[in-house]
Amino acid sequence: MNTYDSLLATVSAQSGETREVFDPATGELIAEAPVNDVATLEAAIDKAEATQPSWAALSDEERIAYLHKAADAIEAAAEPLAELLSREQGKPLNGPNARFEVGGCVAWTRAAADTPLPVEVIVDDESGYAEMHYRPLGVVGAISPWNWPMMISIWQIAPSLRMGNTVVIKPAETTTLSVLALVAVMNEVLPEGVLNIVPGPGSTVGDALTRSPKISKIMFTGSTPVGKRIIEASAPNVTRLTLELGGNDAGIVLPDVDPAAIAEDLFWGAFINTGQTCAALKRLYVHDSVYDAVVSELAKVAAAVPMGVGLEEQNVLGPLQNRPQFDIVDRLVESAKASGARVVLGGDPDREAAGNFYPTTLVADIDPQQDLVLEEQFGPALPIIRYTDVDEAVRLANALEVGLGASVWSADRDAARKVAARLEAGTVWINSHGGLHPMIPFGGAKQSGYGREFGVMGLKSVAEPQVISG
Ligand code: NAD
Repeated sequence: MNTYDSLLATVSAQSGETREVFDPATGELIAEAPVNDVATLEAAIDKAEATQPSWAALSDEERIAYLHKAADAIEAAAEPLAELLSREQGKPLNGPNARFEVGGCVAWTRAAADTPLPVEVIVDDESGYAEMHYRPLGVVGAISPWNWPMMISIWQIAPSLRMGNTVVIKPAETTTLSVLALVAVMNEVLPEGVLNIVPGPGSTVGDALTRSPKISKIMFTGSTPVGKRIIEASAPNVTRLTLELGGNDAGIVLPDVDPAAIAEDLFWGAFINTGQTCAALKRLYVHDSVYDAVVSELAKVAAAVPMGVGLEEQNVLGPLQNRPQFDIVDRLVESAKASGARVVLGGDPDREAAGNFYPTTLVADIDPQQDLVLEEQFGPALPIIRYTDVDEAVRLANALEVGLGASVWSADRDAARKVAARLEAGTVWINSHGGLHPMIPFGGAKQSGYGREFGVMGLKSVAEPQVISG
């Protein structure tokens, strides 16, 4: 049976090149993580390539059974996995955090296993006959970020395996141990060589993965600049890409809302995972007639939510995962303050503390052209912008190059849906923000990427469509 100590011993490095892993809440050294090189990556790709035909030769039912066994293994190791995730990533055990993330890994693995994808008959009449099959692509290269390191890795791994591909995954540098542990647990039950992991720098190991002619598809989740680099690197091989990139999601609050009724959902839409979420609410546009009430109700909720060390059960907000991210949030809030915006809550971090805690921060009466509004803060600092004309709010929401998610808040669902239709985003939520479901396609518009994950669309995106005609 896995324990925290046994899992940590399995995944930490004893020799070779390593990277020190510090607990972001305390600054304490947890372990050394392995740092592999391009030669190790190439060996892993060769192994995945050699294993792929036998994995693809299994029946769909056999692969489905393996995925359920992997989900069972994750479920059995849920508590030590959550503890390791909490210590390395910083997110608390409770709330929509570490235990929730491990539970999500189980749910998404089972959903990828259970989603039916039968052969589709496209034409069957006097004009002809054609059916669509979804064949394995080969080896899928997966590259994941540090904010939801286990769950996002699962989103890449589980559908790929289901469709008969083998996988080589490269986790983010600062959350290597979490993904190594997840993969180690899954590999207790998966056949050898099907799921391979190579931790290492994005600039060398990640880059080589995207350039390899033996990789048929890249599943990438991360920032827009790195996504653009991957498009260039993969072009010579016409490698298939699913790109889940950065976002700066807008929420628009219409004048008819009950501020007290929406405050808690607004809060979690913005502050889930302490704001380090791709599809979190990152700029909130509130109609002038309800502005003051929304700000004060949100502040009441925000002030009562405990932030602290993740392993302490009462906490549901944690530190920023790494210091560069802390510095981004700090810079953006300081620049908003200097512009004359009003800090309603927070905005006063202890920069000398050992942990990367940035307090829950609400910034009101901010100019819509401020950097805290225009740049992705990826942390616990929400700018709240006052508007008077909904057309202007829609224009501002759509003015950025990214379009991952958005939300509209209103007591009138039809009115909200009319505004939703005008927003340029992959998902528009009504009266909530950021909730994901394993059967509902998820992905970005504009420079938030292309391709969709989850559900039937997600399975098709890791397969080669093949028409059999005649
Ligand atoms: P990042 O782009 O810096 O890194 C992501 C991954 O790419 C890491 O594993 C990194 O090592 C690797 N990488 C870096 N350079 C590379 C290169 N040249 N070639 C190949 N791989 C390379 O992103 P991050 O800082 O880890 O994550 C935060 C960003 O990710 C935010 O912008 C956030 O919005 C975005 N994100 C998007 C989604 C989504 O679903 N759309 C989900 C989570 C995070």
